[in-house]
Amino acid sequence: MNDRILLCLAHMSGKEQEFIKEAFDSNWVVPMGPNVTGFEHDLEKFVNRRDGMEPLDKKVVCLSAGTAAVHLALIACGVGAGDEVLVQSFTFCASSHPITYLGATPVFIDSEKDSWNMDPELLEEAIRDRIAKTGKKPKAIIPVALYGMPYQIDKIMEIANRYEIPVIEDGAEGFGSNYNGQALGTFGEYGVLSFNGNKMITTSGGGALICPDADKAREILWYATQARESYPYYQHEAIGYNYRMSNICAGIGRGQMTIVDEHIAHHRHVQALYEELLRDVPGITMHTAPSPEFESNYWLCTATLDEKLKVKGEELAYKQVITGAVGGAAGVTHATSSATTDCQPNDNVEALRMALDAAGIESRPLWKPMHKQPVYKDAPAYVNGVSESLFKVGICLPAGPWVTDDNVRYIADSIKEGIVN
Ligand SMILES: *Cc1c(COP(=O)(O)O)cnc(C)c1O
Repeated sequence: MNDRILLCLAHMSGKEQEFIKEAFDSNWVVPMGPNVTGFEHDLEKFVNRRDGMEPLDKKVVCLSAGTAAVHLALIACGVGAGDEVLVQSFTFCASSHPITYLGATPVFIDSEKDSWNMDPELLEEAIRDRIAKTGKKPKAIIPVALYGMPYQIDKIMEIANRYEIPVIEDGAEGFGSNYNGQALGTFGEYGVLSFNGNKMITTSGGGALICPDADKAREILWYATQARESYPYYQHEAIGYNYRMSNICAGIGRGQMTIVDEHIAHHRHVQALYEELLRDVPGITMHTAPSPEFESNYWLCTATLDEKLKVKGEELAYKQVITGAVGGAAGVTHATSSATTDCQPNDNVEALRMALDAAGIESRPLWKPMHKQPVYKDAPAYVNGVSESLFKVGICLPAGPWVTDDNVRYIADSIKEGIVN
């Protein structure tokens, strides 16, 4: 698409066009059909496999987006107006926004330092405190696999089971990540996957929900197709949504599934190379799995910068208002009047981002915690400072299938060049 080294850009296997052609030839250019069914089967096989154990029997429903999958999982967990949902604060907004679509309130949970994901201790503290304050149990728990890194799912499930609160795993960034040999998204009641253009695999745009059984999958499918009752005419007894995946997009997904294992292996290889090349650079630390059970797909590779590290051009950081939204939301601009906010990455992180940008390398700050977002200023939050301090020192580095070994060496060299010795 261009010569810049991008964070994570989709890579086609070549098979996609065959599946799409089949859809056209058989006139299945609609939001259902053989590609959707075929992609669902491929996904089920992929998420159900387990190291050294019988495969699971989860069902998968393909949807128009990962955000839609979060939304429908919340509905299936019975979330409605006035309810509360516990959600990891350190995440992309799609983990929490659908809670507000339902008139419910997100309650944000901070992270622990090892995986950067939901802190189980804070989770339990929040459950007790919400029950004490509101007299009601929160309706669901949403941990997030940030950049593909698994959360402490064994501890989170133990707490969730004890309080009988369903877990919706946001594995949108963690497709191909395992905890102890089992796929993320298969531990909780529901698991969210995303196939947006920059995720581990893509359908151009799309998502899926991993469901516990065929009945639950049927319910999700029903909500995703406008909740039509079984009559010869349109009879509606509940509010539904138009969230089904199109047969064309699913064709892309089937093609992607033929190379998914290679993609994941490549992301892990790139991570290992960064670790090797940056190991001896003082002030830069690659984020790695806390222990071998955390089998990350390394969707994006991330590093933290010591706040004392001096980077060339720090005096220029945040001097200019940026035009256009971060993350390449194509053509979407929303003007801001100021170049800074009350919570942002340190000047050395922004200077490194600008230096890499000038060298033709895309990098990005970590997700800004939701409890620091103005739109959520009134939402309850259980905070230990971890996600805010990581946001100030962290940076995402390119990791996709297009990133070659030479690219990684060039990126590592560019980082070293940016540092003032
Ligand atoms: C991408 C993403 C989603 C949503 O996926 P879309 O397919 O873009 O709607 C949800 N949660 C997280 C953490 C994500 O990164």
